[in-house]
Amino acid sequence: MSDLSAFSLAGKRILVTGANTGIGQGIALSIARAGGAVVGVGRSAMDETAEKTAAAGGDFEAVLCDLADHAAAQAMLDRIWDETGPLDGLVNNAGIIRRADAVDLTQADWDDVMDTNLKTIFFLSQSFARRVLANPERRGKIVNIASVLSFQGGIRVASYTASKHGVLGITRLLACEWASKGINVNSIAPGYIETNNTQALRADPDRSAAILARIPAGRWGGPEDIGDAAVFLLAPASNYMHGAVVPVDGGWLAR
Ligand code: NDP
Repeated sequence: MSDLSAFSLAGKRILVTGANTGIGQGIALSIARAGGAVVGVGRSAMDETAEKTAAAGGDFEAVLCDLADHAAAQAMLDRIWDETGPLDGLVNNAGIIRRADAVDLTQADWDDVMDTNLKTIFFLSQSFARRVLANPERRGKIVNIASVLSFQGGIRVASYTASKHGVLGITRLLACEWASKGINVNSIAPGYIETNNTQALRADPDRSAAILARIPAGRWGGPEDIGDAAVFLLAPASNYMHGAVVPVDGGWLAR
C-alpha cells in the first residue's frame, strides 16, 4: 500500500485554466491544500483565488490570457516555462456553453465553443508535452475537464456536447501517444456542479428539482469535489492511469 506521499503535490507546479471562479478555483484550492503551487490562467482577475489559495498555504501566480486564441495560449505557456520555470501538470478546465435549439445555433457560437473547449485544450497540451518531452527526466500530468455531456446528448447544447465528446477523444488519443513517454493524460467528467455556469439552471425551480431528483447522491456537487479528484490525477498515486475518464457526478451516469 502507498504511503500518503503518493497523494501529495508538494514541489509540483500546476497550470490551471479558468482559475478565477467555479471549478477552476476549486481545483486551485485543492492543489494548494495538497502542497502544490498553482499558475492560474484566465482572462479575468484572480484575486479571490489568490486569497483563498494563500489562506490554504499555497503559492499562486495569475497570468491573463484569452484562451479562445490557441496561438496566444501556446505562447503564454512557453513564456511561463521560460520566465518562471517548468510545470509538472496542466489542468484544462476553462470552458463555455451556448444554449440554443439545434436549428437556431449560429456558426459563431459553434466556433466560440469549439475554440475554447476543444481546440485550445489540444494546442495547450501540445505545448506542455513538447516541453516535458524535451527533457527525458521530466514527467507530466494533464487533466482535461469533460462533462457528463461527454456521454449523453442533452438538449439545446449542441456545440457544448460535441466539444465535450471531443475532449474524451483527445484525452484518449494523447494518452496513447504519450503514455510511454512519461506523460499521463486523463479526464474528469463533472456532473451538476454549483458554479456561475449552472446558476440559471439552479434559479429555475422546476429544472433544479428535476435535476436534483435524478442525482443519486441527492445533492449538487461543489467545485472542491472536482478539485480533489484532480489532485489524485495530478499526484503520483495515479501514475499508471492513462486515458481514463473519472465521473464525479454524484452517481448521475450510473443511473
Ligand atoms: P464557470 O463559467 O464558472 O467558469 C468557466 C471558467 O472558464 C472561467 O474561469 C472563465 O473565465 C474561463 N474561460 C472561459 N472562456 C475563457 C477564455 N476564452 N479564456 C480564458 N478563460 C476562459 O464554469 P464552471 O466552473 O462551471 O466550468 C468549468 C469547466 O467545467 C468547464 O469546462 C465546464 O464545461 C466544465 N463543467 C462544468 C459543469 C458544471 O455543472 N458547472 C458540469 C460539467 C462540466 P471568465 O470568468 O473570465 O469568463
